[in-house]
Amino acid sequence: MTQEKKDWTREELEEHTVGKMTAVPIPVNITMIGTQRILNFGELEDILRSATTISQEECGCRKRVGNCIDPMDGCLGINDLANELIEKGEAKQITLEKALEAMNRTYDAGLVHMAYTFEGKDEIEYICSCCSCCCHSLSAALRFGYKNHVFSSKYVANQDGDKCASCGTCVDRCQFKARTLTDDNLEFIQEKCFGCGLCIDTCPEEAISLVDRS
Ligand code: SF4
Ligand code: SF4
Ligand code: SF4
Repeated sequence: MTQEKKDWTREELEEHTVGKMTAVPIPVNITMIGTQRILNFGELEDILRSATTISQEECGCRKRVGNCIDPMDGCLGINDLANELIEKGEAKQITLEKALEAMNRTYDAGLVHMAYTFEGKDEIEYICSCCSCCCHSLSAALRFGYKNHVFSSKYVANQDGDKCASCGTCVDRCQFKARTLTDDNLEFIQEKCFGCGLCIDTCPEEAISLVDRS
């Protein structure tokens, strides 16, 4: 017996998320220092390092929709929102070290780190680690085409066709469906790329780089 696949409806997304919050994928940037693999999350790390309070709670989308078994601990509140969630008992306070550990774990699982701002505010108040099968933001953008709900990052992937061995690894890493493999040929549609960087370090041929979108 196949289990019924749960999902967000267009009505739910319009009522709770679209127009009320916007998300931007935070690109990953990985460097090697000596023999130790250091993950430098660039912008994400800067946001967390400058936060006065960080909260952590369970991923509400995966809990509700349950289409995958990806890590559940990548939802982090920042500053005022973190304090509010902790006070309400909806999240626990965590250290910067624990926050970075959670971000490393979710990065390894291939989740997209998204920075959220909410209606009427400019500053980033929430960081999520999102999959395309459960996340309300990616559902809104990918299934229903609300393009202004998830903004692209300032970077975009650049493909070196000569180096590509058509192994297909990057197809699985891309949550935005910018990559497909047909008859052993990789097709990369740059217009669909949100610049998250998840495909880069797992490419065995080093055929992908992130470049400035402008
Ligand atoms: S936005 Fe992403 S990380 Fe946040 S609750 Fe939804 S799927 Fe989970
Ligand atoms: S992971 Fe690299 S080598 Fe493999 S298909 Fe993608 S770009 Fe090509
Ligand atoms: S192509 Fe690479 S950088 Fe672009 S959205 Fe997909 S995984 Fe992210």
